[in-house]
Amino acid sequence: MDGGGRRLPNASAEGVAYVSIHQIRSDTDKWWDVGACRGLDSGIFYPDDDVEAQAAKSVCETCVVKQTCLDHALSFREKAGVWGGATERDRRRIIRQRRRKD
Ligand code: SF4
Repeated sequence: MDGGGRRLPNASAEGVAYVSIHQIRSDTDKWWDVGACRGLDSGIFYPDDDVEAQAAKSVCETCVVKQTCLDHALSFREKAGVWGGATERDRRRIIRQRRRKD
């Protein structure tokens, strides 16, 4: 699986393009620049199942921007991939839990 689903907006001459956070250059000052996943194969962040997701989750556990990444994924309703140590299923669970608290 490629990293096409892990996207953040990136202004370009053609309008808004999307790039993998794993492919963003280091001369920017965005939170994903310091993510532990930076430079890794983005494919591991798009696992086929929960067992495969453990590799990505292990990386996220070491990441200094884990909470920010998770907040981003929740805010933008990211549909695929592991973000902030959470799979799509984990994120749906978090959203349900937050709704119950409201
Ligand atoms: S929390 Fe995980 S997916 Fe998010 S930036 Fe860090 S290592 Fe990457």
